[in-house]
Amino acid sequence: MRLKHKSLLLYGGFLASAVLLASLADLIGRGTAVSILAAIALVLVGVQFAYLKCPHCGGSAIFTLKGIVTPWTGNSCRHCGREY
Ligand SMILES: [Zn+2]
Repeated sequence: MRLKHKSLLLYGGFLASAVLLASLADLIGRGTAVSILAAIALVLVGVQFAYLKCPHCGGSAIFTLKGIVTPWTGNSCRHCGREY
């Protein structure tokens, strides 16, 4: 699977859980829903670190060369320039 598809799956899962939690907010309380969503977002960032890596050089796909975290992986590695 290409890396950008993996990241799309991750974000899609996050959006789906956000929609699910929004519809459950009346049932479980808005505060609870927001804290669950924040926890999921934290896990998502952790999974991105572990999972979204360049298969060629191992560089993280969510870091730019200047060390800025970006949610978009793009088509090619920012570190070695090869496509993933
Ligand atoms: Zn690379």
